[in-house]
Amino acid sequence: MKFIDEASIRHKRVLLRVDFNVPLKKDGSIADDSRIRWAVVTIKYLLDRENKVIIVSHLGRPSTRNSHDSLEKVARRLHSYLPSYHWHFVPDFLTDAHILAKLKEGEFAVLENIRFYSEESANDAGFAKRLASLADVYVNDAFGVSHREATSIVGVTNYLPSFGGFLLKKEITMLSKVTENPKKPFVAIIGGKKISTKIKFISKLIRLADYVLLSGGLANTFLAARGYEIGSSLFRRQELGQVNYLTSLAKRHGTKIVLPEDAIVGSNPEGTTSQVRLINAIGKHEQILDIGPKTQAEYETIISRAKTIIWNGPLGYFENPQFRRGTDFIYYAIAQNNHAFSVIGGGDTIAAIADKDNLKNITHISTGGGAMLAFIEHGTLPGIEALKRNRMKLYIL
Ligand code: ADP
Ligand code: MG
Repeated sequence: MKFIDEASIRHKRVLLRVDFNVPLKKDGSIADDSRIRWAVVTIKYLLDRENKVIIVSHLGRPSTRNSHDSLEKVARRLHSYLPSYHWHFVPDFLTDAHILAKLKEGEFAVLENIRFYSEESANDAGFAKRLASLADVYVNDAFGVSHREATSIVGVTNYLPSFGGFLLKKEITMLSKVTENPKKPFVAIIGGKKISTKIKFISKLIRLADYVLLSGGLANTFLAARGYEIGSSLFRRQELGQVNYLTSLAKRHGTKIVLPEDAIVGSNPEGTTSQVRLINAIGKHEQILDIGPKTQAEYETIISRAKTIIWNGPLGYFENPQFRRGTDFIYYAIAQNNHAFSVIGGGDTIAAIADKDNLKNITHISTGGGAMLAFIEHGTLPGIEALKRNRMKLYIL
């Protein structure tokens, strides 16, 4: 596949797919505009080469057109980061051709939420042609959505010369260092809620890594499988079979799965008091809501010797300050290892990081939650494969 800096894209109408799926507050305003800021580099690059940039994104999971999920506020915020460029908003690209006809070189237009069209998620050929007809060239810079077989990610590449943007390039380069010949020792830290949503990701890391340090709700099922009393902790009986599978997989690959030795417990996640317990001393009415100090120390020792580190999933119920110390501690442990290649990803994981100052000590913060998990599993994504197939067509053209 080709990236935009490997082609000479000038004086073109460029259809640019970005991931502007920003978190919103209840009133519909933007809660965090990181995803808008990340996209600016590619947009500016294309604008500065006298292109007309037509930006496509989705926002939320709307079932019908509605003002809460409109991209207009996002477009306005984007303009605040590109104040010297003219911009347009296109409420409905199917009927508003006159707006796009006015677009001049070095200007950008933002199309309304592409998920307002039901054809987007269906990877619909007719809809792909309509989208493609707006432009001469397609660029995908939406890594966070590239695990989806959506029209604006996959279908549209059948009808336009297609390239990857800078965000996509960075994610592929960085995450490939985890999946292809990672430096050893390789330590994976996996937390969060469920095993089932991450089973393939965990399996893949058991194959790749030397140590898999488990925590969060998903470690509870492992503890229960090993016969520990886990009280009223988050636990999923239907995942016990997956625990057996992962345990035998780890044996076959000589990977060490490490479980918490102690925990911070409470009577419920929203509680205001907490206690430290050894893992064999959890009371019937207690819940494991964070890792304890022994586990912190044990995990830190393993992390400090690593050459490759990947972390996904909070180590505890971080939403309550009572139970966020484990997550903070492990984040610092990773940041302090300055000889390792380190990657952090996951929607809740990034949200759980309170001290953004230490992010500079992490090699790569992935912009994709589900997309990062899927890339680690498969070493590629449907959106990336679509760009590769398109590359073949470019030779024919
Ligand atoms: P990510 O989005 O980073 O992949 P997940 O969605 O898998 O992470 O998990 C995040 C959620 O897991 C958080 O809401 C957190 O509170 C919860 N969690 C972590 N540990 C526990 C625990 N011990 N008990 C209950 N919930 C937990
Ligand atoms: Mg999550």
